[in-house]
Amino acid sequence: MKGRFAPSPTGRMHLGNVFCALLSWLSSRSRGGVWLLRIEDLDPQRSRPEYAALIEDDLRWLGLDWDEGGSTGGSCGPYFQSLRSAVYEEYLQRLWHSGRVYPCRCTRANIMATQAPHESDGRIVYAGTCRPAHLRTGSDLMAFTCPDGPIPEHVKLRLLVPDQTVTFSDMHYGTQSVNLASHCGDFLLRRADGAWAYQLAVVVDDALMGVSEVVRGRDLLLSTPQQIWLARLLGFGVPDHCHHPLLVNESGQRLSKRDSSLDMGVLRQHFLPEQIVGWLAFLCGLTDVPEPVSARDLIPVFDWNKVPEHDICVRKDILSF
Ligand code: GLU
Repeated sequence: MKGRFAPSPTGRMHLGNVFCALLSWLSSRSRGGVWLLRIEDLDPQRSRPEYAALIEDDLRWLGLDWDEGGSTGGSCGPYFQSLRSAVYEEYLQRLWHSGRVYPCRCTRANIMATQAPHESDGRIVYAGTCRPAHLRTGSDLMAFTCPDGPIPEHVKLRLLVPDQTVTFSDMHYGTQSVNLASHCGDFLLRRADGAWAYQLAVVVDDALMGVSEVVRGRDLLLSTPQQIWLARLLGFGVPDHCHHPLLVNESGQRLSKRDSSLDMGVLRQHFLPEQIVGWLAFLCGLTDVPEPVSARDLIPVFDWNKVPEHDICVRKDILSF
């Protein structure tokens, strides 16, 4: 099996990112699998090479070694998404010729102003404002025609999703059934400035890099149906998915790069790697006491059944063990 960690180098890793990396690494290592590091530096405005270098340094410091990817390289590279444009272009061309892609001129502001957020989690489902008339039926049985002419530049490109339910079994959260049209909406493949969208890049890369298991935070659980559908459309196999609970602060909000007191720059000044790993292992039920432990020593005790489904509150004082 092959697992992966796919961080975006838009800041220093924080405890939530470390938690994701640790679970993904343990899930692979406990089954003798390969672990891959892919740098998701798709957003040219927010990604920085120095953060990618720090991610590698922090992972090494934590004892989370990878077999391929990052600056180590390997046979499925490059492993930096910013270097993979030609690959994404090829798959975009295929989708474009399938007739399911259309240009979209909506701005973020007018989508936000005209559409109600989704009831369950506040996401906006695109209403299909720019969908061409011949794509309006929503049925996946309609005849798609290959558009004339090249892919337009300087506009967003969206992929039409059918009114169809995708069912998959998450290894941690169980069976999920999601209607693509009502829950996800037509989603972006490329931004107007030419930057590739996460959904396209992640599906293409996981497939071409041979990833068989995707471990990531449950905030991406509802992106999974779109990714499964896109993978099927491109003729790829679908990896196993295992989403994990999120680390949240005392007010229930997901830890983010804004919680700078929990970023690796600060944590490394005060703690040893075994203390951080031991604390996370205790928080997610792998150990009974928050004692220092190395990542390697957790391999024999790792079991997804011990990890809770509910989010995990991080009380900052616990770090002082
Ligand atoms: N690059 C994404 C992030 O840092 C992770 C995407 C994924 O694991 O599929 O949130």
